[in-house]
Amino acid sequence: MRMTRLFSHTLREAPGDADHESHRLLLRAGLVQQIAAGVYSYLPLGWRVLRKIEQIVREEMDRAGGQEILMPVLSPIELWQETGRAADYGPTLMTLEDRRERRFALGPTHEEVVTDLFRRTVQSYKELPQLLYQIQTKFRDEPRPRMGLVRCREFGMMDLYSFDADAAGLDKSYDAMHTAYQRVYERAGVPVVVVHADSGTIGGRESQEFMLISDIGEDDVLICPGCGYAANAEKAELRKAVAAPEPMQPLEEVSTPGQKTIDDLMRFLGIPAARTLKAVFYVAEMPVPPVIQRDQDIGNTRQISASQNVFVTIRGDLEVNEVKLRNALKALDVRLMTEDEVRAAHLVAGSASPVGLKSITIVADDSVPDSPNLVAGANQTDVHYRNVNLGRDWQANVVGDIALARPGDPCARCGSSFESRRGIEMGHIFKLGTRYTEKMGATFLDAAGDTKLPIMGCYGIGTSRLLQCVIEANHDERGIVWPKSLAPYDLHLVGLGLDRDGVAEKADALYEALTAAGIEVLYDDRPEATAGVKFNDADLLGLPLRATISPRSLEKDSIEVKRRTATESELIPYTEAVRRLQALLVEA
Ligand SMILES: [Zn+2]
Repeated sequence: MRMTRLFSHTLREAPGDADHESHRLLLRAGLVQQIAAGVYSYLPLGWRVLRKIEQIVREEMDRAGGQEILMPVLSPIELWQETGRAADYGPTLMTLEDRRERRFALGPTHEEVVTDLFRRTVQSYKELPQLLYQIQTKFRDEPRPRMGLVRCREFGMMDLYSFDADAAGLDKSYDAMHTAYQRVYERAGVPVVVVHADSGTIGGRESQEFMLISDIGEDDVLICPGCGYAANAEKAELRKAVAAPEPMQPLEEVSTPGQKTIDDLMRFLGIPAARTLKAVFYVAEMPVPPVIQRDQDIGNTRQISASQNVFVTIRGDLEVNEVKLRNALKALDVRLMTEDEVRAAHLVAGSASPVGLKSITIVADDSVPDSPNLVAGANQTDVHYRNVNLGRDWQANVVGDIALARPGDPCARCGSSFESRRGIEMGHIFKLGTRYTEKMGATFLDAAGDTKLPIMGCYGIGTSRLLQCVIEANHDERGIVWPKSLAPYDLHLVGLGLDRDGVAEKADALYEALTAAGIEVLYDDRPEATAGVKFNDADLLGLPLRATISPRSLEKDSIEVKRRTATESELIPYTEAVRRLQALLVEA
């Protein structure tokens, strides 16, 4: 490719709103152009990289047993209503109506469509397992598109879905994907940390995210230096201090004038936080069975949720993790009560107690049952109870791990202190189970002729997001430093002094010979650009090798070769250029 023909320009400065270096480099190198918030065109150089990413992903999914298909961007809203996700996604799901007022979703993911395909196609256990994938454009109506290709409204994605006959089969498919994902990121030249994650609106039992650790990441990750356990902060499991066993003491009131917080009680009563019981008030949105409206506008059919007050208890040394709380309650969402709601529920803020409380759902962190004789509220201002014991004095409707892991907290597995990092999610794998096959009636016949539900997994890699993550992980102050596997071209051929006698002829001939030898060459043949501009552009565009041909190098019948990562260049004979450059590219 001659730069005089290339349909893009490098920019000295990135347009105003690019707030991160990888985003700026993406724009300055002319890889993409934004047309609307979170919507991009891919220019020739960016498109070449994206296609190389897709090819690596494709090869690894094929190697792991995947079969490539292509599902439509448009999917009938009725499919999303079958699973209740039209409501779960809310306004994030982009929808449109056709001329007959039939509503469609622009797919953010394809569990519904692929499960529909499966139920129309597969009948017998003999056809399992199936691993189906596609590389497709996806849509999410993000409230705040940002960070270039990291958080977009239209984006490229590879999504694979596995269907297995049993749980052991799912484990095998999941492990195969885990390995395949590791290989993709290794080949793409991005370091990856695999973290345990919450499943979010996809649902399912187990999931892991493939993270690029980066200060610009939006996700909080906790990493254990002791055992290597890593988890999204909303999922991380911490080791909770175990209270020494002691006999239950009689419940007694204690006067606590003006003492409202855990800190107040610690000072006033001279006790550690772990001897107190904290109460936090939430409103949970609980799902109720979907109501199908048979009216003229089927698009309005939605899952109805019901608000429910929840009294949450946790030991005073711990904090509530709202994602874990939502999961423990199987709620769609949870939020703190407002002051008005607290008053309306007759809860005594500062001295609320589960003791004697009726007609409200009570949740206890799993640290509470093993912590005897706690100080808790008494549902009266300025009064608390001593020696409150779960089981004897009060009951919980739900007991589970709802504690937030914080940096410095001990790891649940080995006790070492968690370290905090920021990460960008590059991929996510889930064990879905039968959530979709059950709701959509996708079944197969087993060997005995019984009808069974296939067990699903789903696995996604954001291909366009990965493009920016590769830049985020591979750049310096001068520009991008592409890994050889993804560079838009292998070699940046810089022609200097092309107006001088015979130089352009020699440079053109070299360009032709290199291209004929199968090397992908970007040839800077711009007649008017200075050497400084050309070298700056070569650094910005970041191809692995730069070869400069100039009147000065030709005086020595040579060209000057430099790796993007090197500070020194070397001269190689013009007549040996093709062979020597081929060899250098193999080493690169
Ligand atoms: Zn650990």
